[in-house]
Amino acid sequence: MVAGVYLDYNATAPVLPAAAEAVAVALRQPGNPSSVHGFGRAARARMEDAREVVARLVGAAPAQVIFTSGGTEAAALGLHAFRDRPVLVSAIEHPCVLEILPRAERIPVTADGVVDLDWLATRLRRDPLPAVVAVMLANNETGVLQPVAEVAALARAAGAAVFCDAVQGPGKVAVDMSGLDVDFLTLSAHKLGGPQGVGALIARTPESLPPLVVGGGQERGRRGGTQNGPGIAGFGAAARAIAAGECVSCLTDLRDRLEAGIRRLAPQAVIWGEGAERLPNTTCVGLPGIDQQRVLMALDLAGVAVSAGSACSSGKVAPSHVLTAMGATPAQAREAIRVSLGWASAASDVDAFLDAWGRLARASAA
Ligand code: PLP
Repeated sequence: MVAGVYLDYNATAPVLPAAAEAVAVALRQPGNPSSVHGFGRAARARMEDAREVVARLVGAAPAQVIFTSGGTEAAALGLHAFRDRPVLVSAIEHPCVLEILPRAERIPVTADGVVDLDWLATRLRRDPLPAVVAVMLANNETGVLQPVAEVAALARAAGAAVFCDAVQGPGKVAVDMSGLDVDFLTLSAHKLGGPQGVGALIARTPESLPPLVVGGGQERGRRGGTQNGPGIAGFGAAARAIAAGECVSCLTDLRDRLEAGIRRLAPQAVIWGEGAERLPNTTCVGLPGIDQQRVLMALDLAGVAVSAGSACSSGKVAPSHVLTAMGATPAQAREAIRVSLGWASAASDVDAFLDAWGRLARASAA
């Protein structure tokens, strides 16, 4: 078992004890949810219970939940039918949205990382009008919350459908699909304390959704293949724990402690999206003149795990498209690291980060 201070929840959250237990219970039981015998019916009951809890977590109906292998597949399922049509996506979307719609027109963001509503309103007054507008709930790198309900109102008035990647929301902020008024919303269990490899697309009208994977008729014909029963059980248990308010309460206090420490140690540091409304758990910070790889290595040596932007892009040399869209220079984009807290984080974790990071901050100031 690797020991250390884990501050990379936006990459993946540690599994909540209740979720681990639900996975273990389901793994001990045979049963395909499509089988009609007792074992199959029990597996189906566990899955439908999870479907109900996940639906309730985001204010949707159970019949609107389509279980997938994660947030990436959920985005592909919701968006693949729009590939050859005019579409608008925010410039800061996760690659799972950007790459399923490679010809999409990009909605710019402000310097604080918020979708530019004025730009969108102007764009929606001219042709071609988009078939769908995709804007995420919260950015995974900066934590900046997006004005999804306002985007939806503009998009709807122009006759477009609305897609929202809400993967980084639950467990950190309340998510209400009907309040947001979106047609599609995506979730990923491992970002909210469930297991990896399971997620969901919540679709307003799932019956009109063309499937991406066919054969078997599972998920009412929207997603073929035997469902990940144990994973879905864990997803449900994590969603239940979150709905009970187990995880969010002290995140803001911890993040404030972190950012006060950063400011004290390095007034020259740049906190991306600082002026915008953000998730209570995320800080994206750069030290002028110090490359993120150096910061990551120094922190790793000190036993503190954070990441450079999104986990998926951390192996690449390209600077973050999110920070670039916010106006960062290539050098600034290569200096930023992401610290993300969660349900098991403690003040001592924040202090361990500040202790190790402070040494670099002094080098940056010198
Ligand atoms: N969307 C966002 C905003 C994410 O942060 C991630 C994961 O990093 C994904 C989608 C992809 O989710 P998954 O890892 O479940 O495929």
